[in-house]
Amino acid sequence: MNVLVINCGSSSLKYQVINSESEQVLAKGLCERIGIDGRLVYQPAGGEKEITDAPMPTHKEAVQMVLDALVNEKTGALKSLSEIGAVGHRVVHGGEKFTTSCLITEEVIKVVEECNDLAPLHNPANIIGIRACQALMPGVPMVAVFDTAFHQTMPAKAYMYGVPYECYEKYKVRKYGFHGTSHSYVSKRVAEVDGSDYNSTKTIVCHLGNGSSICAVENGKSVDTSMGLSPLEGLIMGTRSGDIDPSAVEFIANKEGLDMAGVMNLLNKKSGVDGISGISSDFRDLKAAMDEGNERATLAINMFCYRVAKYVGSYVAAMNGVDIIAFTAGIGENSGWLREMVCDYLGYLGVKLDAEANKVAGEEQLISTADSKVKVYVIPTNEELAIARETVALAK
Ligand code: AMP
Repeated sequence: MNVLVINCGSSSLKYQVINSESEQVLAKGLCERIGIDGRLVYQPAGGEKEITDAPMPTHKEAVQMVLDALVNEKTGALKSLSEIGAVGHRVVHGGEKFTTSCLITEEVIKVVEECNDLAPLHNPANIIGIRACQALMPGVPMVAVFDTAFHQTMPAKAYMYGVPYECYEKYKVRKYGFHGTSHSYVSKRVAEVDGSDYNSTKTIVCHLGNGSSICAVENGKSVDTSMGLSPLEGLIMGTRSGDIDPSAVEFIANKEGLDMAGVMNLLNKKSGVDGISGISSDFRDLKAAMDEGNERATLAINMFCYRVAKYVGSYVAAMNGVDIIAFTAGIGENSGWLREMVCDYLGYLGVKLDAEANKVAGEEQLISTADSKVKVYVIPTNEELAIARETVALAK
């Protein structure tokens, strides 16, 4: 079966068509600037990337352009749209309602809508994408795969905040966690690669990208993760602050004359390594600046690695041990120098990196030495493939 995987943002739409038997990507690309002007990027397997500027007032026109490109006579990856057997949608927030992926029905859409409050930037866009696909591909089964679902196994002691219990009862204020599809995929995959039993392994997955989070996976279940009610909590990220004393939020708002929306914008978009360095949110730029002796870039990188190491330590405590640490996502997969900086903190666990193996970028690789007490791996994440697998399992 061919699965169309859709990941909708407020003004963008990423897509891939994956054949579920061969697990090959037949075509991929994205629509950008939806609602502004519109640009389609389309790339068939083994073919050239095509860029087309065309008006996309809404996600519906964007989906239509993707479908047209997929069956284009010259460069289309498919002969007809009937070759798409199912559509898998990434949905960011499933609240407490969704512990697994599910077939999309009107009832499911209603419940996703109820979670809009919890992810106001993401869930409405996800629903628009679902509606657009339903309108253009009637009768094709659609599946929602939630970023939060994998973390629904966390115990209450990990997901509750120390605020009045009524805030949880009335408003469901709690930690949900994100990047669940990635943490699930990587933790399973690393067990396979390592030849260990997923259901009796303690793994810490470090998903380090523009958005970053860490997850403790014990016996195949997420037991704690660094992101919270929203993706703002936890690690210092590209432009997000991560953990901060809430009093500092009030203090900054008062000093800068910002309202709640203004100060949240500062924490989400102007903070993190970008805000600290004043240079960039991109770790390639930060590394170059650090190598030239830039102090704030060096500080930003040091802060990032220190917090990753602290979270790893706290999850070792939470699980009373760790067997495997896996690095993934843009930074985790590609930056050996940063993995080394993080692992330099983990000597007390008996972690020893193999300098030669740690040169790897973007490939599955054991990067610890044979006598390391904890195995350390690089495992490229593949959220689209994970979504396609879930979709096929439910659509069959
Ligand atoms: P992601 O959000 O997973 O796409 O990751 C984005 C981050 O990964 C950015 O900070 C990039 O600097 C970093 N990144 C992506 N590719 C590379 C690379 N080849 N080498 C080093 N860092 C990279």
